Amino acid sequence: MVVGSGRRNFSSVGFIGLGNMGNSMAMNILKKGFKLTVFDINKSAMTNVIEAGGKAAPNVSDVAKNSEIVITMLPANDHVWECYTGKNGLLSTVNKDALLIDSSTIDPLVSQKLSVETLKKGAKFLDGPVSGGVVGARDATLTFMVGGGKQECERAKPILEAMGSRVVHCGDVGMGQVAKLCNNMLLAISMIGVAEAVNLADRLGLDPKVMNSIINTSTGRCWSSEINPPVPGIIDSVPSSNDYKGGFTTSLISKDLGLAQAAATRSNALTPLGSVAQQVYRTIMLHGFGDKDFSSVYQYLRGNK
Ligand code: NAD
Repeated sequence: MVVGSGRRNFSSVGFIGLGNMGNSMAMNILKKGFKLTVFDINKSAMTNVIEAGGKAAPNVSDVAKNSEIVITMLPANDHVWECYTGKNGLLSTVNKDALLIDSSTIDPLVSQKLSVETLKKGAKFLDGPVSGGVVGARDATLTFMVGGGKQECERAKPILEAMGSRVVHCGDVGMGQVAKLCNNMLLAISMIGVAEAVNLADRLGLDPKVMNSIINTSTGRCWSSEINPPVPGIIDSVPSSNDYKGGFTTSLISKDLGLAQAAATRSNALTPLGSVAQQVYRTIMLHGFGDKDFSSVYQYLRGNK
């Protein structure tokens, strides 16, 4: 097999899971001229991709049959496991030497088990979760955190670079997920921290917008204060200025915090703030914030105002 020989290596690409992220990622693959077969259990999720030249498969196994490389972008562990190992799953028809890349955010342990099952079929597996959100997916500026063989990572690069601007090889299978979970745990903690600090300032009589701007030129500065501030009216295009719609939902960050806590328990790592962050986000989900951007923790701390 030729390594890193450019996109001719993959004349046929498959994509499964055309939701908020996957739809744009699939569109960017098409824009780069790859032949693409897609599947989603929700038929309407595929409409625009088919109109743009993609071919709809009737099921997952058909995608595997027709593709040298398959990318999955599904919600969580169970969806990915079923998609691979189910009765008509990817592994039921995967081509020998095919490359399967899972870009969903899931448990590293599940990625490692999927790799073992994939190898049994003579194919290769990479975990390749992403950061950059729906905007990064739309603009093809995602960062891919890749776990698996270096050779496979090189082989995947032309297709990953069609969807993102950075591909980082993190180590063996599962290490992409480890990178993703650790980053998102920190992100959740920092978002709660910014929201808490700004809300306290407000309660003490300081304008929250002024406080947010002070943070941005002080030592508390971070992505959550600068790029996606939880205070409405600072940046027009971010979720907080749009009733916390769009962006990265509270239910997705809760899922990632749960995965981080499970991994921390397995490895005996102390993650006190990660654990509290998970409880905070689970709490606000119970209060109906599940579909809102995770910066809505600020709204919750203010008593829904
Ligand atoms: P989503 O729910 O919008 O999309 C998932 C898609 O998978 C849906 O279209 C659904 O119909 C489809 N699907 C579910 N089960 C299926 C199956 N068995 N076969 C085929 N299709 C199936 O989710 P999303 O926001 O696109 O996120 C996908 C993954 O990416 C998640 O693991 C998430 O944590 C991760 N992620 C999301 C973001 C974000 O900002 N949304 C950012 C980075 C990573």
